[in-house]
Amino acid sequence: MQTMISGGPIANSEGWAKIPFAGRLAHYWLPDEIEGYSAIHKGERVSFWKSRCGVEATTYKGVSMLERGNWPMCKRCGRLS
Ligand SMILES: [Zn+2]
Repeated sequence: MQTMISGGPIANSEGWAKIPFAGRLAHYWLPDEIEGYSAIHKGERVSFWKSRCGVEATTYKGVSMLERGNWPMCKRCGRLS
């Protein structure tokens, strides 16, 4: 099995990224328009994301967006771009 390498945390912004616990692909993320861009939960900023293909994820301290690295890109997100 191939070892997956990420380039490390990146700033929260729209674009291709790998979010931990949100599947095994890098998706193209947009701020979730339903939940709002971000919120403060227990003193920490939590950001809500929704990918072009409909996957939902949150990021917060310790679980941040990662550079795409060599994770496979989601074909559905790529087709919609
Ligand atoms: Zn996707």
